Amino acid sequence: MSEIRLPFAEPPAPGAATEVAPGLFWMRLALPFRLDHVNIYLLEDGPGWTVVDTGLGDAATEALWRALLDGRLRGRPVRRVIATHFHPDHAGMAGWLCERTGAELFMSQTDYLTSLVIQLQPDMLRSEPYVSFYRDHGLSAEVTAELLSGGHRYLRMMTGLPRTFRRLVAGETLEIGGRRWAVMTAGGHAPEQVMLHCPEDRLLLAADQIMVRISPNISVQAMDPQGDPLGIYIRSLEALKAGIAAETLVLPGHHQPFIGLHRRADELLAHHVARCDAILAACRERALTAAELIPVVFGRVIEDPHQVGFAFSEALAHINHLERAGALVQRAGRYDVG
Ligand SMILES: [Zn+2]
Repeated sequence: MSEIRLPFAEPPAPGAATEVAPGLFWMRLALPFRLDHVNIYLLEDGPGWTVVDTGLGDAATEALWRALLDGRLRGRPVRRVIATHFHPDHAGMAGWLCERTGAELFMSQTDYLTSLVIQLQPDMLRSEPYVSFYRDHGLSAEVTAELLSGGHRYLRMMTGLPRTFRRLVAGETLEIGGRRWAVMTAGGHAPEQVMLHCPEDRLLLAADQIMVRISPNISVQAMDPQGDPLGIYIRSLEALKAGIAAETLVLPGHHQPFIGLHRRADELLAHHVARCDAILAACRERALTAAELIPVVFGRVIEDPHQVGFAFSEALAHINHLERAGALVQRAGRYDVG
């Protein structure tokens, strides 16, 4: 299968935009994390603009948006703000931006409501059965505390969401600047992440569902402890391969736009198979807890409690997937090949 190509290898400089298709601009906003940037897209939309993703709800991003609204976007109103999913690096500035511009927020229902639940009850996870869920999987009190405070951490990176939104539904069509975009949604990384596909121009705004260089975080949520987000994600990659032409330009939420969707989907599928195989090999030696399986899945010991939290949730996604397939059995918090 053909190689993955990066038609725009150099990312746009801070504050600058690259026109990746007529009327469709790629920009980068900084993130204060190890993953140090998020992509946003500006789409010419008749007399105005549609914005896809908004960056983190912090002071630096707000300053950048102020400069954009007074500069590049000046004179053409932002009509629509699309948040591909509820994560703060994508939806963080949505509240501020909609309020400031009068734009409507477009989002999937599940992601809108997920964000709303956290806003209404940021402390919810700090109770049973969630505390026991983490401790029973072998996590330390420190990592558990980190995971349970996720609601408050999330809200510190958000500017809220408008009280009303426009629901994006898979199968519907959204016209933006004369282009017809098919709305697609997929789970695995977020509950109902929105992607927009324009088959005529072979464009896919893919958000974090499929990216070069990194594999999106696939996490089990404490509210759905037996959940199989990895199975959902694997099926979505198969659906992308089946439904989207290989030569499509993929415009992701992080890293470069690329051509080679099918190849990249196969790489990601193989990556998850390898992680599952590593888990099975380790559990064949002796029964292990999910916490003990973290270094097996990631190939290294992770120290930082925040990173351990992410790693645990992702390790458990692989474990639950294997358990569902009957390849692993849990006894008193330890996993065995049966
Ligand atoms: Zn992201």
